[in-house]
Amino acid sequence: MIRPVRPRTPGQCEECIKIGSPWVHLRTCLTCGHVGCCDSSPNRHARAHAYGIGHPVVRSAEPGEDWRWCYVDEAFV
Ligand SMILES: [Zn+2]
Ligand SMILES: [Zn+2]
Repeated sequence: MIRPVRPRTPGQCEECIKIGSPWVHLRTCLTCGHVGCCDSSPNRHARAHAYGIGHPVVRSAEPGEDWRWCYVDEAFV
């Protein structure tokens, strides 16, 4: 499921910018490059993307962080 991806909306949550909502942290989908907001954000778009589209693995999009998280296993990978 993990491919070399480029963030589609670098530095911004793709859905939050459409609805004008703030976010806390960003996660990049490692399957398609979707950028969504974390579980501390009001809309949790990264999780919604993982379950809605079936792309379970994200990488932190925060500067200086490079950990990966799997929403299916609820674990770092
Ligand atoms: Zn969002
Ligand atoms: Zn994706």
